Amino acid sequence: MKHFTSVKTRITIWYTGLMLILIAVVLFLVWSLSYKLLIENIEKDITLQVTQISEKITKRQFDVFRIVDRDEEFKNVSLYEKNGRYITGQYIYDIANIGFAEGKPRRETVDGKVYLVYDVQKHSGGHDGFWIRGAESLNSGMIFGRSAIVVILIIIPVLVVTTALGGYYITKKAFMPINNIIDTANEICTQRDIKKRIATDDSGKGEELYALSVTLNQMLDKIESLIEQEKQFTSDASHELRTPISVILTQGEYLFELAESEKEKEIAENIIMKAKQLKELVSGLLLLARIDGNRQKFNKEKVDVGAVVDIAIDDMRNEAKKKDILLISNVRDGIMVEADEILLLSAITNLISNSIKYGKQSGNVLISAIKVGARVEIIVADNGIGIAKEHIDKIWGRFYRIDDARSDEYGSTGLGLAVVKSIIKLHGGEISVKSEPGERTEFRIVI
Ligand code: ADP
Repeated sequence: MKHFTSVKTRITIWYTGLMLILIAVVLFLVWSLSYKLLIENIEKDITLQVTQISEKITKRQFDVFRIVDRDEEFKNVSLYEKNGRYITGQYIYDIANIGFAEGKPRRETVDGKVYLVYDVQKHSGGHDGFWIRGAESLNSGMIFGRSAIVVILIIIPVLVVTTALGGYYITKKAFMPINNIIDTANEICTQRDIKKRIATDDSGKGEELYALSVTLNQMLDKIESLIEQEKQFTSDASHELRTPISVILTQGEYLFELAESEKEKEIAENIIMKAKQLKELVSGLLLLARIDGNRQKFNKEKVDVGAVVDIAIDDMRNEAKKKDILLISNVRDGIMVEADEILLLSAITNLISNSIKYGKQSGNVLISAIKVGARVEIIVADNGIGIAKEHIDKIWGRFYRIDDARSDEYGSTGLGLAVVKSIIKLHGGEISVKSEPGERTEFRIVI
């Protein structure tokens, strides 16, 4: 059904139908004209044959019976007694049974078949007289002839199929730029690659669809350059922010040491927490900008997953302690993966950090890894608050936080999973999540 809704198919059907109607009209005109001419000819022909035989009888030519019987020239003539009994000449049962009448050539119908009949009564010497009859069938099959049937049965279907195929091919070619536009738009959406452009064929220069493709390409150029500028700005801004944030952080820590009262300690702690959050945010933004702009250094080497998981657990141990969360590694020695160690560590640490942030008091986080064929699966599972179904697809988005109101409490930036996903993509891997709200969450990396 989908096929019939395409513009290509509809145009093809329209022109093929139009051509069929045109052929039908032309055929009808040709047929009615030739039918008229043919009948006039037949009329002339049988009138002439009958008149000539009549003259021969007048001149008492004795071989007239033989001529009527055998001569091709008089094949439509037959002779009858005055009482209608057949004597000689053309014998067709239907014709022989038509009653005689003098006058002009006339049409007679016998059993649905039409004949043109011309009768002349002839008196001759001592004989009672004759009826001379000229007659010919006017059946359409005979009139129209074999060639017309060949045209209808063979040439027309061939013409229709050729028109349909030719029409379809031409419209398909004409619509090619639209297909290119659709394909490119799909590629940009699915592969998230704004560098793709619509293929243009210079032979179509001057056509509207060519102009549309070129204009869309120019628009994509403009969008790409705007995105580039924005990325560059994010990258530059993040870079510039790094030093002041580090200064705030160290000064906050110094302030904490100098603090005497509980209130002063609380203020210093707050500064440290916010500065750490900012530091995390800025380094996340910088990393994303580098990966997006293909500027991220990527040192691929054989990495021992177990060792990386151990470092990540060590890094997060203090955080876990605050909520009495148990971090367990279930990774055998010797599971190797081709990766950038620092980036992989950052991804795993991020996932463990989330499991702690959104984990329950005294809960646990289990990190495991298995080899599946040539690939390695790393799983970070916790028995925390879980993720409701409606958020599952959105959590990978930049700055997406489920519980915005409590982001301060969690110390969340909304950038963590976007960074993890970019890192895994850079490795040619995939990351997915399964969760039961209130029960558990499991992130699975496949590299
Ligand atoms: P952040 O944690 O800084 O808010 P993320 O991108 O890491 O940003 O996570 C996005 C959101 O996904 C978080 O706000 C949180 O609601 C949810 N989330 C991530 N990991 C977990 C987890 N292990 N358990 C429950 N929710 C999670």
